[in-house]
Amino acid sequence: MRNDGELLLSLDLEDPRLDSERGCRYPSRVVFNTEKFLSLLEPLSLKCTFFTVGNIMRNHPELIAKVIAAGHELAWHSDSHRPLNEMSREEFRKDLWIAKDFEQQLGVPILGYRAPIFSLTPESNWAHEELGKAGFIYSSSILPAANPLHGWAGYGPEPRIAAGVVEIPMRPVKLGPWSVPVGGVYFRLLPRGMLFSAVRRSIASGEAIPTYFHPYDFDPDEEYYMHGGVNRNPLLNLLLYWNRRDALSRLKNLTNQSVRVSTYRDFALKVSQRALSPRPGPLL
Ligand SMILES: [Zn+2]
Repeated sequence: MRNDGELLLSLDLEDPRLDSERGCRYPSRVVFNTEKFLSLLEPLSLKCTFFTVGNIMRNHPELIAKVIAAGHELAWHSDSHRPLNEMSREEFRKDLWIAKDFEQQLGVPILGYRAPIFSLTPESNWAHEELGKAGFIYSSSILPAANPLHGWAGYGPEPRIAAGVVEIPMRPVKLGPWSVPVGGVYFRLLPRGMLFSAVRRSIASGEAIPTYFHPYDFDPDEEYYMHGGVNRNPLLNLLLYWNRRDALSRLKNLTNQSVRVSTYRDFALKVSQRALSPRPGPLL
């Protein structure tokens, strides 16, 4: 399937301290960092998808109100950031009901889902069916590559419809012999010029390039502690702190260079409309 070339902007709104044994010794920085991110988007008139964890919705209602008031998309990132491989299907179903409770309370649609740490793999491919039943229209939960944490190498980069739900995998960009997703560590680590020209090339060829960021990606002053979700690997943990000082200016620069920036929901709607539209028949 061909896509209009565009950049899909997202923030995984979570507090990494809660996934770490030692993180809660330090003050929370999630509100400060997210507000900094919101302040970047506002003058640029950019809309972003905020894949948000339930404990943030519960503990920081004022922050969620700001996200909604600014016209961004609110989406679900699980209640407490448990990856799918640690949940049964039944637990996952209940987790999605919590999202629907928030939808009622907040009065805004929550139609998108992202599995923590891109943990939707062949072992949890029942997730799409559960998402569809709960009223979600899309998911962006698959890293279509081999990865030390989670990944589904054979899934492929194209968005497709699974059990009635649009899956938007983390399509990578080509960087010489490598394929890299645009976000997080990769976004901060790789040389800016090389990465940005790879993104521009992909967009010019009609691809939609998903991005992902976290509030901590923009925080050069966070205390050093072992984050959860990195298997206690010191190198992976070090990378989580790498070059955060440069991240906001990189993002501003990239969005200035991109033809179009969209939310995930707007893109998912386009994908499902295309799938529904009848193919033109032969001319008579
Ligand atoms: Zn996350």
